[in-house]
Amino acid sequence: MIESFIRDVPDFPKPGILFKDITPLLQSAEGLALAIDGMAKAVDPSTYDIVCGIESRGFIFGTALARQLNKGFVPIRKPGKLPWKTAAESYELEYGTDTIEIHVDACDKGKRMLMVDDLLATGGTMEAALKLVRRIGGQPVACCFVIELGFLPGRAKLGQVPVHSLLKV
Ligand code: AMP
Repeated sequence: MIESFIRDVPDFPKPGILFKDITPLLQSAEGLALAIDGMAKAVDPSTYDIVCGIESRGFIFGTALARQLNKGFVPIRKPGKLPWKTAAESYELEYGTDTIEIHVDACDKGKRMLMVDDLLATGGTMEAALKLVRRIGGQPVACCFVIELGFLPGRAKLGQVPVHSLLKV
């Protein structure tokens, strides 16, 4: 059970946030296998060409999944980290805005992308990631998360793209 490997940390990184800590999942061979195998089963691998992960925990799951399925990996990063030409997308946070970036040549036109992150909360991050992938010519075919906060309307933000989560809380 994935749930048994997730640690709840109250008031991190600020008061009122119940942080879902995935490090117990990662440090367990059983937990890590549950997560990566679960993602490999959640979306038929023949329906996508590349895995795209969002910094930073999306890198951990996305890269492991890509390697397991013999696919490539594309990182979406925080501003100023990618060295080549980038496309950027900003999105609203509770207070202020955030920005993510992708390399403009991260995929060939029409490539089918599986979008991966550790957790779906408000959906703002993934919504911006979908826009970025489309802007560079990629085609997001599904989003996959380890955890979904089901009490937030994250799914609704992602439109027609199917959403899969291994654990809904
Ligand atoms: P959102 O854009 O609101 O869907 O937030 C998703 C991003 O924020 C993911 O990259 C998560 O890693 C992180 N995040 C948001 N809420 C939490 C939480 N309660 N516990 C852990 N990570 C979170």
